[in-house]
Amino acid sequence: MNQNVNQHTSLAAFAAPFAEPAGSPIRELFPYLSRPGMISLAGGYPSPSLFDAEGLAQAAQQAMTQGSATLQYSATEGLPELREALALQAQERGMQATAADILVTTGSQQAFDLLVRVLVEPGDTVLVEVPAYPATLQALRLAQARILPIPMDEHGLQTEALAELLAALPAAQRPKLLYSVPNFSNPRGTLLTGERRAALVQLALQYGFWVVEDDPYGELRFDDVSGLPETMPATVRGTGQRLAEAGHNPVVYLSSLSKTVAPALRVGWMLADAPLLRRCTVAKQTADLCTSALTQMVAACYLQSGRYPATVQRARQEYQRRMQALVQGLSTGPDSGIRCSRPAGGMFVWAELDRSIHPQKLFDAAVAQGVIYVPGKAFYPADPDLHTLRMSFAAPEVAQIEQAVERLRTAVQQSR
Ligand code: PMP
Repeated sequence: MNQNVNQHTSLAAFAAPFAEPAGSPIRELFPYLSRPGMISLAGGYPSPSLFDAEGLAQAAQQAMTQGSATLQYSATEGLPELREALALQAQERGMQATAADILVTTGSQQAFDLLVRVLVEPGDTVLVEVPAYPATLQALRLAQARILPIPMDEHGLQTEALAELLAALPAAQRPKLLYSVPNFSNPRGTLLTGERRAALVQLALQYGFWVVEDDPYGELRFDDVSGLPETMPATVRGTGQRLAEAGHNPVVYLSSLSKTVAPALRVGWMLADAPLLRRCTVAKQTADLCTSALTQMVAACYLQSGRYPATVQRARQEYQRRMQALVQGLSTGPDSGIRCSRPAGGMFVWAELDRSIHPQKLFDAAVAQGVIYVPGKAFYPADPDLHTLRMSFAAPEVAQIEQAVERLRTAVQQSR
């Protein structure tokens, strides 16, 4: 019996990528969050005060009057009512879409996981904008992909650097896919320019890789922020529609209701050409059969209720106020030692530390002061710039952000 116990705990008992897997670097910060008085700038959590609880309660009640569909298994592709409503969202964002082009997923996190299963084999090259959303890096590591970083600047992914890298790669190492968050990226908060969107699609067509356009934040754009184009650049998938032949769009579009309605719905979605969508649907069959019909129906009733635009508008205004409180707090007055980006939307500020600051000392001092952020290391596949960090301004109220700034300033003084 002892021998069996050993067999089950030895590393050989697990598939290679799970032998000694690293957990999510952000989820590992959770224990700090429960400390009394802690102000969290860490997770990308939407503000609890912005949840439209009344509208969702009405939608939930209405969902229960829709017959057995609400409580039954649904088709793997998703409930028709919800796919219709999401196709409308896609159209409003300038993309051609019908309900048949949409796969409902259990959060957009699942959508990426399905794509990795469908597209990536161990050793395959995958391009990722860096700094990157950590869960993307984690999914790719577990798939044993070869991750090649593409640098970003204040306008997002550097397509010039991408073009150079692609030209230098041997044919056997041609990438399978490229991952990017073009709108208000996580973690850098950047908006990819229109020219770069077109360049990205051209390169995808030329070298034959898929572009995964992850867009949970695109609707959270701020008003009156200098540098924001009058009209948002078309989605990369929309650009792909214009540049590619019909039926051969290299761009897969992912979005989610997590940041605008509620993460607990676990409703995300994928818009892609039929051959890829079909394969992701088959992968989803073995992942969870279908996303909960209950939350899908609540989401569909909510989107049909007409309350969504006002909810998003409230979020935009509130997040803009919170972003300003954070950025102005750190960039006006005596030098804070923390140089931050000023995002035109989304939930994140990316910051660079003065080189006189010791990054680990700062983190420890910040936690001791009662404020937490995500150290930049979490966002790099390798060779991290340790003098970086990500702060989310979405969840804390303005007064808490002001307090967080004071605490950060104190922590900096203690860690030079
Ligand atoms: N992509 C990005 C860039 C994100 O920031 C997040 C959430 N933090 C997700 C995907 C996953 O969101 P969800 O699964 O809740 O839709």
